[in-house]
Amino acid sequence: MTTENLIGIIVDDDFASKHIPPYPKPSFISFENPLRIKSILNHLERINIFNNNRIIKVKPRDVTQATMELAHSKYHIEAIKRVSNMGGGLLEEDVFLTEDTYALAKKAIGGAIEAIEGVISNKYTQSFALIRPPGHHAFREKASGLCIFNNIANSILYLRNHLNFNKKIAIIDIDDHFGDGLAQYFYDDSSVLYFSIHEFDFTEGDLGMVDELGIDEGIGKNINLPVPEGITNEDFYYCLDLLEPILNEFQPAVIVVAAGFDMYYADPIGNCSLTSIAYNQFADKILKIAESVCEGKISFILEGGYDIIGLPYCVEAIIKALLKEKYEPPDYENNLSVLENSKRKEIDKIKTFLKSLLYPYWDHLKLNIK
Ligand SMILES: [Zn+2]
Repeated sequence: MTTENLIGIIVDDDFASKHIPPYPKPSFISFENPLRIKSILNHLERINIFNNNRIIKVKPRDVTQATMELAHSKYHIEAIKRVSNMGGGLLEEDVFLTEDTYALAKKAIGGAIEAIEGVISNKYTQSFALIRPPGHHAFREKASGLCIFNNIANSILYLRNHLNFNKKIAIIDIDDHFGDGLAQYFYDDSSVLYFSIHEFDFTEGDLGMVDELGIDEGIGKNINLPVPEGITNEDFYYCLDLLEPILNEFQPAVIVVAAGFDMYYADPIGNCSLTSIAYNQFADKILKIAESVCEGKISFILEGGYDIIGLPYCVEAIIKALLKEKYEPPDYENNLSVLENSKRKEIDKIKTFLKSLLYPYWDHLKLNIK
């Protein structure tokens, strides 16, 4: 790879201004609000990212109803449109709708499609879709957990069905939560690998457990690494060493990262202890793997991440790794005591168990090949 690869950043002002949680009436507070994108964009402007000649700003694609129907039932699409037209409301505890939710959620799908298709078609080598609402909890039939439509699943189904792109795709989900919606779309599909590291949360039922391996053709291609709350940067990096043998063996044509940043230590929803440097190290690692297996093709799609002070730094940390420029974390992240409480022992147990479950399906893990 040359150092001249382009990076597409998918932006649209609507993500920074629309779909505002209906606070204070009805009484509902959501951390999933336009300030997330506003704070990222302000920060990227402040550090002059968009003046870099390797960065290009791109708009989301237009999305048709037919494209949305690849991932969602007509009833679900219609329901979101209907409630938006009525002025909004709460669909369930974690799903708020406003008058502009339908249009923005549709635009978010278009942002993810642009990000992934742009990489596949060599418009740019890597991309980052700065979109909201997030998508990885959305199901074919319903919105869930702040997610309206499943941006990543819809993009992949669009590539498969409308663009005839049939090569293998790896999804790496680093959001604090298990992407229950996203995993279900490809649970029986051997051409899409879903790998998720997430905080194990008993209140969410059984989803995201270590022995959910996929089914039928897809067995072994759903990989869950549930981690205890409070994991540190070091713990997170230690989890990532599973990625190299698996991606080397799988040989995807593109890597899609479900880029959630709610494992950040100050996140109001997640309970982990990462700082922005963890995301810099993650991107650096995934870039090296991508350069050896898929010509560096990676697409980052924003999912969760709700600390509006830290979130912009986490995004910068990733972009700097893609640019191969040094990332300097903010001073306030230095010497945090949260970083000292390693969960290494618990993680070791889970990792060993996960590996033993995966041995029948992954020679590289079994034979210890990188
Ligand atoms: Zn999350």
